[in-house]
Amino acid sequence: MVRRKLVLSFPENIVTSPITYKLVKEFNLEFNILRAEITPDMEGKMLIELRGDKALIDDAIKYLTDTGVSVQEAAKDIIISKNKCIDCGICTSICITQALTLDSSSFKLKFNKDKCILCELCLDCCPVSAIKVHI
Ligand code: SF4
Ligand code: SF4
Repeated sequence: MVRRKLVLSFPENIVTSPITYKLVKEFNLEFNILRAEITPDMEGKMLIELRGDKALIDDAIKYLTDTGVSVQEAAKDIIISKNKCIDCGICTSICITQALTLDSSSFKLKFNKDKCILCELCLDCCPVSAIKVHI
């Protein structure tokens, strides 16, 4: 039995389809939904941990991508360098889950790891390269 942590992105046309149900029924996998969000433009994002036979997990990932789901490995953390960050707030407008916000009194950047779904959308927006992924 192996474990894989993945970020799944569901486009609007399949966001309400019972796709994850099939992971259990057809591929005999166990899964934990660690975080899930639907963005304002109706794209679904889900951080999921799959457990099961390695070959069946590979088959399930192929099934997901064939269905139109984007699949990305999520064995990473987002790291914000406090030394580099200038609290400009640009990343807060990119972050769909509001894991990145500016504190309303200090105007300092706050990062709530529990809300982060590791979508990596924030990585390229920082003007001082303060955001990195830790693999
Ligand atoms: S990776 Fe960045 S943009 Fe995506 S949820 Fe985490 S903090 Fe927000
Ligand atoms: S974009 Fe970069 S510098 Fe600006 S608040 Fe976010 S991490 Fe800090």
